[in-house]
Amino acid sequence: MGTDNSSLFGSLFDAPPLKRVVPVLVPLPVPVPYSYAVPEGMHVEPGSVVQVPVGPRQLIGVVWDGESQDGLDPKKLRPITLAFDCPPLSKEMRDFVDWVAAYTLSPPGLVARMAVRAPAALDPEPMVEAVRYVGGQPERLTPARVRVLDIVKAEDIPWTRSGLAHAAGVSMSVIDGLTAQGVFETVFLPPPPVVAKPEPDYTAPRIEGVQKEAAAEIVASIREGGFSASLIDGVTGSGKTEVYFEAIAETLRRGKQVLILLPEIALTPAFLERFQDRFGAKPGEWHSDLSPRMREKVWRGVVTGEVRVVAGARSALFLPFEELGLIIVDEEHDPAYKQEDRVFYNARDMAVVRGRIGDFPVVLVSATPSVESQVNGLSGRYNLVQLPTRFGDAALPDLHLIDMRRHAPERGGFLSPLLLRAMGRTLERKEQSLLFLNRRGYAPLTLCRVCGHRFQCPQCSSWLVEHRFKSQLQCHQCGYHQHTPEHCPDCGTFDHLVACGPGVERIAEEVEKHFPDARTIVMSSDILGGVKRMRLELEAIANGEADIVIGTQLVAKGHNFPLMTLVGIVDADLGLANGDPRAAERTFQLLSQVTGRAGRTGLKSHGLLQTYQPMHPVMQAIVSGDASAFYEREINEREKAILPPFGRLASIIISAETRADAETHARGLRAAAPRVTGISVLGPAEAPLALVRGRHRFRLLVHGRRNSDMQAFLRVMLDAGPKQRGSVQVQLDVDPQSFL
Ligand code: ADP
Ligand code: ZN
Repeated sequence: MGTDNSSLFGSLFDAPPLKRVVPVLVPLPVPVPYSYAVPEGMHVEPGSVVQVPVGPRQLIGVVWDGESQDGLDPKKLRPITLAFDCPPLSKEMRDFVDWVAAYTLSPPGLVARMAVRAPAALDPEPMVEAVRYVGGQPERLTPARVRVLDIVKAEDIPWTRSGLAHAAGVSMSVIDGLTAQGVFETVFLPPPPVVAKPEPDYTAPRIEGVQKEAAAEIVASIREGGFSASLIDGVTGSGKTEVYFEAIAETLRRGKQVLILLPEIALTPAFLERFQDRFGAKPGEWHSDLSPRMREKVWRGVVTGEVRVVAGARSALFLPFEELGLIIVDEEHDPAYKQEDRVFYNARDMAVVRGRIGDFPVVLVSATPSVESQVNGLSGRYNLVQLPTRFGDAALPDLHLIDMRRHAPERGGFLSPLLLRAMGRTLERKEQSLLFLNRRGYAPLTLCRVCGHRFQCPQCSSWLVEHRFKSQLQCHQCGYHQHTPEHCPDCGTFDHLVACGPGVERIAEEVEKHFPDARTIVMSSDILGGVKRMRLELEAIANGEADIVIGTQLVAKGHNFPLMTLVGIVDADLGLANGDPRAAERTFQLLSQVTGRAGRTGLKSHGLLQTYQPMHPVMQAIVSGDASAFYEREINEREKAILPPFGRLASIIISAETRADAETHARGLRAAAPRVTGISVLGPAEAPLALVRGRHRFRLLVHGRRNSDMQAFLRVMLDAGPKQRGSVQVQLDVDPQSFL
């Protein structure tokens, strides 16, 4: 019985009025919403975005469902400071937030925070000042004024001052002069849209043969309405993108919004152009390299429904769309979909959940699906759509292994004579080569030849990586760096430090020695100039402005390099030896993706993989092109070991400033594990990365059968376990990807 009665009582008995109380999720690691009083005259409902006081601070929160749970005396509650003027988070979105929080065991306020933006985003956008031609002539006609008048007479619309000045090739003062003379009047226009509206039938679909059947199947599931999950499994260049564009077109025709998740959206501007060619307008972009102003605009456009399609990184999954009707998850196997910070979630899996809650279709897309999705596809849980061949004349590259035991590189080098010869021939044909090595810098380890000292990060258990371009030794865990020394800090000997192993910079040095006249580019994420520079370099490569590209996984994803006909994998074994249950799968995916960069336009192409383990199932699967045999084997092994998706895993990392504190807490947690059949706890063991940023780390691995209630188990264990004290931190990772 809310505010009406309370104001009545207030006037009758002169007592403080009874307040309406609502739960508000605040962006803090607390388990339940806080209670706040709603000031008289303020309208809020579940989903309203509000500002509330927490201690001395003002935070952005969201009014939540249900009753207040903290049992505080309503009279003592603090009031909501203000309610923002924007649509409330829908019930669907609130259910999604609750679901993700429960599944990942994250504080719901931290999940909700990913869905709302900073307060500025919630204020209406300012109107844009413009001028409009009223008629008449200025007192004096200059050539500049004539040019301006010609334009406005030809097109009688309001012009922004800068837009008109630009169109007429005059300075803004010319426009202002005409306004002062009364030839123009000042008008205010609504702000321009962030992106124009894409049109489903702007151009005709480009699909044929199997692509047509594939598209028809997916479009049918969209027409049918309701939730469905599909997996498009097709080799690189088979036309997967063209096929899912048809799903997007159908959704747009039905008046719904679309979300396309892409792992490297900031680096693939070509995708946006391709989308524009098909639909006549670009999608809204969402990733961390957007300016804050642009983020605001896109967020607002998504909420109001003005932006119809968003192409974004994983965090776009939490955008509160007005009426979302389809999610595409491109490169669904990509590890970048996993967030391992604050809220640990996999955007691919949560996309399927969002579709189920919102009752709309979700389409996963990959040339090398994750084993999890593959199992769902084969078992019929997902609608499996296969595109086994490349489109048109483009053939997949010819893949061969180079057995490094038999074709060893020359002393001090890392490239076998076979690979070098192939590169030489590619150069002669004026085509491009890509050398792939997933290691930034010059060398992963530096040691002193005299005393054996190894350079290690002072705060982490990892070696310092030499970056020769920058003359630095860097820690890739924490970013610590120091100038590369000339003498050993231990024994003091000068000029006896040796670089061990290769990084991309070192491969570039070797390439320059063999091919001094070739145009060589090194591409890695630490490139000077950041994302802007990377985009330019990638464009330059696509335009044929480089002969040899040496790159990390940055070059593996989504790019189309028409002249690239040779891909050399410098160390195909690199990902196999790290104790990760997904090592084989990951290596298979990465190597397939990198070699898939070659030969996308019909030129004959090759992939050469340098390996010391040519008989390894991953190597065999890649060169034989028999992906299904590889998956079958992988699926069998997972099933035997009851690993995902046949079993469930959760990892708990316990860290503290001292090793003893971390270990004691980990043992305490382990002891608090309930006894349940079907779930067991492994550890604690010191984590492979035992020290990160000065914090000592221990791990517990919880392993359960498929039907076990992992979340309930973890909740009991955490509740019964020791309270977190001092520097101890506990990180929970359900469905972990990382085992470091
Ligand atoms: P994938 O997403 O599977 O890697 P794409 O959709 O990028 O494949 O297609 C690969 C190339 O083939 C692209 O350049 C694309 O424009 C072209 N292509 C695919 N299907 C067609 C088609 N039906 N008609 C014309 N070009 C096509
Ligand atoms: Zn470090």
